[in-house]
Amino acid sequence: MVNDATLFIGLGNMGRPMAGNIARSGQRLFVYDADPQATEAVAKELHVHGPADLEAVAQDVGTVILMLPTSRIVETVLRGEDGLFRKLKRGTLIIDMGSSEPESTIALAGEATESDLVYVDAPVSGGVPKAISGELAIMVGGEPAAAERAKGLLDLMGKTVVRVGPAGTGHAAKALNNLLSATNLAAAAEILSVAKSVGINPAIMIEVINGSTSRSQASEFKYPKHILNATYDSGFSMDLMLKDMRIARSLIESSSLRAPIVLSAETLARHARETLDSPAPDHTELARYYEITNKTSFSGE
Ligand code: NAD
Repeated sequence: MVNDATLFIGLGNMGRPMAGNIARSGQRLFVYDADPQATEAVAKELHVHGPADLEAVAQDVGTVILMLPTSRIVETVLRGEDGLFRKLKRGTLIIDMGSSEPESTIALAGEATESDLVYVDAPVSGGVPKAISGELAIMVGGEPAAAERAKGLLDLMGKTVVRVGPAGTGHAAKALNNLLSATNLAAAAEILSVAKSVGINPAIMIEVINGSTSRSQASEFKYPKHILNATYDSGFSMDLMLKDMRIARSLIESSSLRAPIVLSAETLARHARETLDSPAPDHTELARYYEITNKTSFSGE
């Protein structure tokens, strides 16, 4: 067990169950969200303290975990007059577990070092179900000693914890993984549309794919659990998926390498977001976009 108390910031779809796994280990925990109702609800549920502001506990913790939507928000929480860089005690470990931009992470890790703090990026894969079961795949960027120090806590939330390399490489690996994952989903949706048009029931086609060489996480989990039943309720928003795809696009463009398939999936997903009528679509609605544009329903067969 990690002796120092941990402060968990960002109690949304992922943060809430992740904080729950830390609390259940007996680790001393504080939880905080910009939404005071979320802070209160999670603190009550986990029987831990939910401070009204970060300053109240900043000096009492040895580790801070961030599970926030974007790098801009991470920067706001850490930098500036009211930012945590100025409030935490020396030696505090900061772990950014959200899917942030590698460039921003590298800059923040440098600033943390200048303030005698330790910084690690440790984004996750596996979505809400693995966050609940504590079986996330965690990819770590940072100095080896810092990654080792983070491991005790990360093991409470993840099944695999892999150090990728220096600061920012965890976030780079996460964005590239999600670009591939979204490309798999788009490709499956295209094949399902065509299958439907030649008279194959989508549920049967998914069964065929899952017994064959083209199966993927999209065909094995997303279709059966969130698409064929038209619930579109994975808990991972399309906007967050698009953020990951955009980060991966900029990594590809800065490498000057050719990657036409995954880049066209990013363009397509942006178009899908503009086309879909829901105000905050789930990422699995990428399949619904094909149902709309190809006029083929995958569900209700
Ligand atoms: P979410 O939108 O459900 O939750 C984000 C939480 O952060 C919200 O409760 C929000 O109120 C809080 N927040 C926003 N600004 C804040 C601030 N300044 N201070 C404190 N709290 C603040 O998002 P999520 O789905 O839990 O995702 C969180 C991160 O994890 C994102 O970076 C996302 O890309 C990544 N991620 C999500 C999934 C998924 O399946 N949902 C999977 C892997 C990675």
